[in-house]
Amino acid sequence: MAAARYVRGTEPSQESPHPKAMDSHFHLDQTIKQLRKGSRVTTSAQLIKANPSIRPKIPVQVVGGVEVYCDTETFPEDLAREPGWKIAIGLHPKAAIGADNQVLQKIRRQVASPQVAALGEIGLDRIVGSDKWTRQEDIFRELQRMANPAKPVVLHLRGAAGDKHACGKHALALATIKEMCDSSQRIHIHNLAGQPRTLRRWRQVFHNCYLMMVTDFNDRQVEALARILLEMDSPYLMPRPDQRYNNPTYIGDMAQEVVRHRGGDIKRLLHEAMSNTRRLYGD
Ligand SMILES: [Zn+2]
Repeated sequence: MAAARYVRGTEPSQESPHPKAMDSHFHLDQTIKQLRKGSRVTTSAQLIKANPSIRPKIPVQVVGGVEVYCDTETFPEDLAREPGWKIAIGLHPKAAIGADNQVLQKIRRQVASPQVAALGEIGLDRIVGSDKWTRQEDIFRELQRMANPAKPVVLHLRGAAGDKHACGKHALALATIKEMCDSSQRIHIHNLAGQPRTLRRWRQVFHNCYLMMVTDFNDRQVEALARILLEMDSPYLMPRPDQRYNNPTYIGDMAQEVVRHRGGDIKRLLHEAMSNTRRLYGD
């Protein structure tokens, strides 16, 4: 068969045929730990080219996202990133209990860098014993002092066992953030578990509030979402029960799950979520 001939400048595009997408929340440092021993992956761009054994059901072209660092031991030294990739620096509420001034100082320094796009994740997580709740709230307040309205605050709010919608935590977090931050503060509530009325309340108080849930959501919650973001929270949550590995390339599968509840077109959702991620975190 004769080889196909192309006029210069009309060669087939090397671009992926899949829709573009962004993952607005994942932990690069922890996800890399899941890779095979000897893996040389150090960046997000390399991670999405790594070859997991299970393929996404909905392949996408991941063009960027937000790397979240909330363990001071693995904060990046080099803050430069390729276009499309952003960094958030924070302290997980479970780790916040043991935080001292040195830790807070380290976070403050990094968050102030123009190369860091967001503060987070920070928040309240009542999985820890109730004797530690006051300490967690105090550190949460300290961390909020580092907020800058131009940089999103990424919130993690989880209730105690049995408190699926974390209602009390949302009310407390909303009250303290109202006290500490301007109403123009950009907010990303990640892996949201709230009831629709809670979601609406956040948006009434903070008009720059973006929301996303990762697991176990229902039609009423999805309906109440506005300014939707898509996130995999890798490596902590699995895209499918049969899977032991997660990374941003599964974001199409997450979009499919949202469409299953909300209806509509998956490509449109991927585009909408990508535009929202850019609007919130910057281009
Ligand atoms: Zn996370």
